[in-house]
Amino acid sequence: MRITILGSGSAFGVPMVFNTFGNASPNNPRNIRLRPSIFLEIDSKNILIDATPEFRLQINQNHITNIDSVLITHGHYDHIGGIPELPRASKILNHPISIYASKETLSELRQCYHYLFSSKSDAEPNLQNLIWNEIPNQGSFMVENLDFSTFQVPHHKLHPSAFKIKNFAYITDWEYISNDTLKNLYDLELLIIECNNGLIKEENGHGNLHQIKELCQQISPKQVVLTHLSTRVDYDELSHHLLGNIKLAYDGLVLEI
Ligand SMILES: [Zn+2]
Ligand SMILES: [Zn+2]
Repeated sequence: MRITILGSGSAFGVPMVFNTFGNASPNNPRNIRLRPSIFLEIDSKNILIDATPEFRLQINQNHITNIDSVLITHGHYDHIGGIPELPRASKILNHPISIYASKETLSELRQCYHYLFSSKSDAEPNLQNLIWNEIPNQGSFMVENLDFSTFQVPHHKLHPSAFKIKNFAYITDWEYISNDTLKNLYDLELLIIECNNGLIKEENGHGNLHQIKELCQQISPKQVVLTHLSTRVDYDELSHHLLGNIKLAYDGLVLEI
């Protein structure tokens, strides 16, 4: 399995608008972060997790030539802003694109993009080639004949879907992981997890490094990569606080397991 970090940034990217870098040094290219998304290549299948407002740039910059399916974690703009571009992507690829999301997320998507759910769009006639699939809140589901499993994490008023395939898990936009869901995370080769707040402990719907270190003590993943990093996180500064098996994501990072 090959995993590419298409975007390691948080909701507003780094820098935010008006070149606002916050605590992140503008001199380190690893602090330039598009919105959060990853791309999985496994068994000749190409699976995107989240379609960000920078979808087009991310696909082009990483020389991706096909997408079979898209998994959506939740309905916040930084994770779904690129979905209206999928009908055009499907047209160029000349095959449908399947989208997988929980009932809650599908409901958010219907509200944001009602025109993508009609059989023919007024804006883009004959471009509707998306196949919508509801996934369970918890349990297993199939994508392109691959076994995925999912569970939900609390985040503001939403419940993002965390995804697991084989011994890899992706968790983004979370406040805490309940004991009940820990059982999904034993024996991981790789965990990619949101660390929006870096070292700052703040209850703002996102995770920080202290929580992640505690989590790692409980589940002992072999490798951990921190993503969805905000302007609070400077790559070099936070790197000094990491243990040996934890590292920071950056845009374009490729991981193979
Ligand atoms: Zn987010
Ligand atoms: Zn969110």
